Amino acid sequence: SKKRSSAASTQNVKVVVRIRPLNPQELDDHVKPILKTHTHKDLFLKEKKYTFDRVFKSSASQPALYNNVIAPLIPDVVEGYNCTVFTYGQTGTGKTYTMTGDKCNLQNNWKQDPDAGIIPRAAFHIFDELNNRANYNTTNVTISYIELYNEEIRDLLSDDQGFNVLQVFSDVKGNVTIPGLKEFTVDSGEEACKLLQKGILKRQMAPTLMNHQSSRSHTVFTITVNTQESTDSGDDIIKTGKIKLVDLAGNENIARSGCKDMRATELANINRSLLTLGRVIHSLADKSQKHVPYRDSKLTRILQDSLGGCTKTVIIATVSPAHAYYEITQSTLDYATRAR
Ligand code: ADP
Ligand code: MG
Repeated sequence: SKKRSSAASTQNVKVVVRIRPLNPQELDDHVKPILKTHTHKDLFLKEKKYTFDRVFKSSASQPALYNNVIAPLIPDVVEGYNCTVFTYGQTGTGKTYTMTGDKCNLQNNWKQDPDAGIIPRAAFHIFDELNNRANYNTTNVTISYIELYNEEIRDLLSDDQGFNVLQVFSDVKGNVTIPGLKEFTVDSGEEACKLLQKGILKRQMAPTLMNHQSSRSHTVFTITVNTQESTDSGDDIIKTGKIKLVDLAGNENIARSGCKDMRATELANINRSLLTLGRVIHSLADKSQKHVPYRDSKLTRILQDSLGGCTKTVIIATVSPAHAYYEITQSTLDYATRAR
C-alpha cells in the first residue's frame, strides 16, 4: 500500500504528522475533532485517507516523538553525516513546542523537563553518543542559531544590539558559508541549551518586534560535530556531521492569499521559501528529477549542504484537530504528502 517514488525516499526523507491536543478553549466549546487516526501510519481527515511514515496522536509525548523519529539520526550525525529536521504547519499547531519545548525561562532544567522538545534532547543525546565512542580522540561540538525573516539572515547568538544582516554563499559543490555567523563551541548539552535560550530571548527582544511576528520567520539551529580518530595505520580520520533543526514560518501564509497587515513582498518571500522547500524535498525523493531548485529561495540555499546526497531529512507536519481549521489542515497534509 506504500506509494513511494524511489528507494531514496524510503531511506532519506521521512514525513510524520503530529496532531496537537484540543486546547482548553476548544474543549470548553466541545469542538468536534475532524482527524481520526487509524493505524500508526494512517490518518483520516473527514473521509480522506492520508498515509505517512508515522502519525502521532495528540496524546503522544515529547520523548515518544523524539525516540521514534529523531534519535535514529544522532549516530549518523556523530559519524559525519548531515541531517535536517523541519516542523511545518499552521501557527498554533505546535511547531515550536515540538522543536524547542514549552518553557523558555532561564531557570529551565532542560534535561529533566518532560516538555523539552527536539533541540534540547538532541543536544544531550549527541554528547551521550560521543561519550560512548572510545575511538574518537578529539571531539568538538559547535552551535549556531539563525533567523530568516523576510529573506534576511539574522544571527540569534550575536551580542550586537539589533541584527546585522548576514549573506549566504554557496560554491558549485553545494558547500554553504555565512561569513560573520557566530559559532560557539559547547562542552555539554546544558551549554547548548543555554545558547538556545539566549537565541530565543534575542528573538523575543528584537527591536523590530513591532512589525515582526515569529510566525513569519524561520529559525535554523545547527549542531555541528567534528571528530578525529586515530587508526592503526597512523592516519587520522576527521569527520564533520551536522544536524539542522528548522522551525518554519506558519503555512497559513501560503494558504491565505494575503493577510491584511502584511506586506506583499513579505508574503511572497514566505510563499517562495515554503514552496521551494517542498519542491526541493520532493525532487530529492524522486531520483528521476535531476535539477534540484536550491537556488530558488534563501532558505533552501542555506540548507543546501544538509539536504540531498547522503543526508537524511525529516518533516514533522503539525496540525490542529479542530473543524475550524479544516482547510489549512488539508493544505498541510497535502504539502506533507507531496514532499514524500
Ligand atoms: P506554533 O509554533 O506552531 O505556532 P506552538 O508550539 O507555539 O505553535 O503551540 C501553540 C500552543 O499549543 C502552545 O501553548 C503549546 O504549548 C501548545 N501545544 C502545541 N502542541 C502541543 C502538544 N503536542 N502537547 C501539548 N501542548 C501543545
Ligand atoms: Mg512557533
